Amino acid sequence: MTNPLLTPSTLPYQLPPFTDITVEHYRPAFDEALALHDAEIASITANPADPTWENTVEALERSGQDLDRVMAVFGNLSGTDVTDEMEDIAADIYPRLSAHYDAMYQNEVLYTRLKEATPLADDAEGQRLHDHLLRTFKRKGADLDAAGKARLSEINQRLSALSEEFGRNLMASTRERAVSFTEEELEGLPAERIASAKVDAEALNREGFVIPLELPTVQSELSRLAREDARGRLYGASASRGSENNIPGLIEAVQLRAERAELLGYATHADYVIAEETAATADAARSMLFDLAPAAAANAEGEQKLLAEEAELNGQGFSAADWPYWESKVRARDFSLDEAELRKYFPLDQVLEKGVFAAAERLYGITVTPRDDLEGYAEGVRVWEVRDGNHESKGIGLLLTDYFGRPTKRGGAWMSEFVGQSRLLKRKPVIVNVMGITKPADGSQPLLSMDEVRTVFHEFGHALHGLLSDVRYPTFAGTNVPRDWVEFPSQINENWALDRSLVKEYARHVETGEPIPDELLDAITAASEFGQGFATSEYLGASIIDLAWHSLSAADASELEATPEAVAEFEAEALRAAGLDNPLIAPRYRSTYFNHIFAGGYSAGYYSYLWAEALDADGFEWFKDQSDLRTAGEKFREVILSKGASRDFTEAYREFRGRDKDVAPLLKRRGLAGA
Ligand SMILES: [Zn+2]
Repeated sequence: MTNPLLTPSTLPYQLPPFTDITVEHYRPAFDEALALHDAEIASITANPADPTWENTVEALERSGQDLDRVMAVFGNLSGTDVTDEMEDIAADIYPRLSAHYDAMYQNEVLYTRLKEATPLADDAEGQRLHDHLLRTFKRKGADLDAAGKARLSEINQRLSALSEEFGRNLMASTRERAVSFTEEELEGLPAERIASAKVDAEALNREGFVIPLELPTVQSELSRLAREDARGRLYGASASRGSENNIPGLIEAVQLRAERAELLGYATHADYVIAEETAATADAARSMLFDLAPAAAANAEGEQKLLAEEAELNGQGFSAADWPYWESKVRARDFSLDEAELRKYFPLDQVLEKGVFAAAERLYGITVTPRDDLEGYAEGVRVWEVRDGNHESKGIGLLLTDYFGRPTKRGGAWMSEFVGQSRLLKRKPVIVNVMGITKPADGSQPLLSMDEVRTVFHEFGHALHGLLSDVRYPTFAGTNVPRDWVEFPSQINENWALDRSLVKEYARHVETGEPIPDELLDAITAASEFGQGFATSEYLGASIIDLAWHSLSAADASELEATPEAVAEFEAEALRAAGLDNPLIAPRYRSTYFNHIFAGGYSAGYYSYLWAEALDADGFEWFKDQSDLRTAGEKFREVILSKGASRDFTEAYREFRGRDKDVAPLLKRRGLAGA
């Protein structure tokens, strides 16, 4: 019996044959793929010929394709359908994977050969790859002595296990804390939302109605639930997630990361991480956050006053749980923005096909068409083919869309890949976009909130980065770029959601087919600054907590106590130092459910969304000045999207924009310019 994970797929674009893959295939495929990769590396190091670019660097870039294939399928599917079985496999294979790569980076013969292999003088991408590989080997411990290497491996394996455990604990805590309500308590929610809460209750074998928790502190239904006690329960469940099971693990992770940074010659984990980012130093990242904090806090205070008054007028109290509700009420009152009414202009398929895909066609000359003959990995997953209109309709790659929430799906929204682009490997990309949109129980089209509309555009921006990648080496493909760069294309793409010429086409009323009226669009624009004080504060709060944990020296980290009180005090202190200690604004994530930094590879990197937003706000000003969108899109595609990590980011930005980034457009957009 052949294992479908161990041979290249024969489906178009090497789409994995999902229907043939079962959970039994992962372990043997993983064992076999690890052994194959070891053999490939051994044949590079045992080569009697002198090291050359082809026999060493390119051979290394070609190696591990089986392992990549197994891990791409497993990595994606273990996030979209988290079952006990998949979690057991993850707990087993991630530490082994981490040990495997440690051994590769610590392989002295390989390291020596790499140093001696030089690219052709006119191969700029190769030159950059060579620098990148040598730096990566050094950062992974290639220069350490034997004891140092052994300790590093130990730390990495433990961190990998801790990360996996954090995610698993959070998933369990999130599932357990999904909040049960009676129908009366759901006052304020529309009938179809109540119906899906009934379905969720049944899936969990519970009586009544259940609202599952989303990843951030603020839950989207907080803006609609009319009852104060219902909001309080939902918020309380959200803000306490992970406090029962994630504290020892997160403290240990912080300690081990600090120790590792020191071992590798950095003062702190944040310094170690940010050295590879476009921000370059932890101080540069921290300065940006601290510079924005006072204006954000002041704006939030102004918002709070308005909302608390409105709550009082309605005879209700005002706590952290009530902020989103009264914000939506004040929005409706002051900006005539009725969020329920607004949703009717944004049915999912319409947003996707007439909005997201149409924008990409206009900008980049690509078309996205359904390939219903190809199967996704779960019910509701659709496969699309992306083709290049300008190059004799050449196939670019595949896009999978997995938009609906499932009880087994990890929270949040993300883009990932099943196959990464590479000219060396003759591979075209297969990309997936995942979200957790609530599917109406009656099977009708979900009507999206403005936030969800932006997220669909955002994730497709990442997808474009993967799909339009045109590099030789797989290491540099698509979104394999620093975190404070990777959000730049996705956030640029978000801007098209409200572009006037486009939105009139795709935002049509679900019952009447009428395009969204100008007054409503004006109201959205006017309202866009309102609420930015809160949004910026909760985001900055999370970023500052992230940097605070990861700016500890190994000695300071070793003093940390693993208790809920100590963690809460550490967070409070970090927020106080930045002037973000408003008790009514919790950070977007608290440490015990901060999946990004303790399970998601974003440690010391949560700041990067704002860093990239400065690029996006400034970059989008440029798009607004261009008379021909297709020409503008082509430039963005050529200079930014197609390049992955194959060229210097600051130089690429300069070529695209005509100058370095300016932070003023970001301040203006967030209403912080005059504050
Ligand atoms: Zn993103």
